[in-house]
Amino acid sequence: MADGSNFSPTSHLGFDAPTVGEALTPGLHLMATCAAPECERRSAFDPAPWIGQGLLTMPLSALQGRVRCVCGSRWAHLALSAEPTPAASSDLFIFR
Ligand SMILES: [Zn+2]
Repeated sequence: MADGSNFSPTSHLGFDAPTVGEALTPGLHLMATCAAPECERRSAFDPAPWIGQGLLTMPLSALQGRVRCVCGSRWAHLALSAEPTPAASSDLFIFR
């Protein structure tokens, strides 16, 4: 039955193509995961360079090809996370 009650505290995570700007939401941060199956490095990710380029409304999915990994991969999955922020590393970085 449709009762109009669809509240879910996590429905905004990884849903509806999150944008760069949403990574600034308090309690959320951006995580990048290398797309190379033999690598799968994962790192907290600072979107500041993209914000500086005025890309606040750009869907994260449109930027996944602009991330580089130290393994040489040119693709990383980007997602918002509400987990405690892990130590930042330089394994994954913004290429442009
Ligand atoms: Zn990698």
